[in-house]
Amino acid sequence: MSTRAGQVIRCKAAVAWEAGKPLVIEEVEVAPPQKNEIRLKILFTALCHTDVYFWEAKGQTPLFPRIFGHEAGGVVESVGEGVTDLQPGDHVLPVFTGECKECPHCKSEESNMCDLLRINTDRGVMINDEKSRFSVNGKPVYHFLGTSTFSEYTVVHVGCVAKINSAAPLEKVCVLSCGISTGLGATINVAKPKKGQSIAVFGLGAVGLGAVTGARIAGASRIIGVDMNPSRLEEARKFGCTEFVNPKDHKKPVQQVIAEMTNGGVDRSVECTGSVQAMISAFECVHDGWGVAVLVGVPNKDDEFKTHPINFLTERTLKGTFFGNFKPRSDIPNVVEKYMKNELDLQLEKFITHSVPFSEINKAFDYMLKGEGLR
Ligand code: NAD
Ligand code: ZN
Repeated sequence: MSTRAGQVIRCKAAVAWEAGKPLVIEEVEVAPPQKNEIRLKILFTALCHTDVYFWEAKGQTPLFPRIFGHEAGGVVESVGEGVTDLQPGDHVLPVFTGECKECPHCKSEESNMCDLLRINTDRGVMINDEKSRFSVNGKPVYHFLGTSTFSEYTVVHVGCVAKINSAAPLEKVCVLSCGISTGLGATINVAKPKKGQSIAVFGLGAVGLGAVTGARIAGASRIIGVDMNPSRLEEARKFGCTEFVNPKDHKKPVQQVIAEMTNGGVDRSVECTGSVQAMISAFECVHDGWGVAVLVGVPNKDDEFKTHPINFLTERTLKGTFFGNFKPRSDIPNVVEKYMKNELDLQLEKFITHSVPFSEINKAFDYMLKGEGLR
């Protein structure tokens, strides 16, 4: 046990006091972990667009002050009552959706939507006592996605961390804690393209490029990247995209452009944008008879998906997924293991385009808002 186990830790965290305002590095108090919780020292954290959406809070429920961050790598500092499978010093990846291992979802081979710990973007407290473990001068600060990794120390439920090989390079594998695994899993676990099939990937951020990586690993023949940012289209070639479509270059709807390129539609599509228009296009661009479309992007609160039912009757399938259907505790350690043994050609270093010291975290937000950085 660390010397600070059971005591409050004072450390630095980047606090979002208001929607859309720069984060402020504050000295925060981090309470000890309670029953079934662990306290982590965060060594590396990345920024995902989901953090930015909820920080901007334009189409999302605002909850402030809050500590964002959910894609990270760290080391267990101390564990709360009832935690038996983790101990101080273990290397872990926190995950925004958990796995209790006991509910019907966790026991099902088909689902990762744990009843107890599934993603909840509106909750800002721990489930054990409905309270926050963070405070600034005694004022509580809300959690985000049960992870809040923009802090030197954070408290998470034991079901929301994957224990990984301590020899894995945390500065790289931290990106498997959300975006890359989500995109990779959306393709290989959900869209499941067969060798030689065609696939369209909408949105070429880290999540979309994770989906492209999955398509490359699965042996897809044509990987069509769709994005409105021309620099992303250029970048995507390095990840395995074979063709590109910028919807802005066409008068016709992008689904029609893709159908014409592919003799009736792609075999699979994966949407990684968060734009409901792109979600509809991603569904409507798959081939009738067998096409499968998978939605990954997080929509705005009031979005509605509208398509003609005939698109279903003509035997297209629409699916959606959180975290690429990976079960965080059961599956992610194996993904890390396979990456280390070179059995999965993930090329993680390519996703990490910028590194900034924690004190300059607002720069990472600027890069993402300008569409300059992946991770
Ligand atoms: P990102 O901002 O880096 O990438 C999104 C890309 O989509 C950008 O390149 C943007 O130009 C493009 N885009 C936006 N609207 C478009 C449109 N209409 N047509 C084509 N391209 C368009 O974001 P990211 O971090 O890669 O995340 C992508 C999405 O996935 C976000 O919505 C994020 O919230 C979501 N997400 C979902 C899960 C999940 O488990 N379902 C997990 C992580 C992230
Ligand atoms: Zn469960």
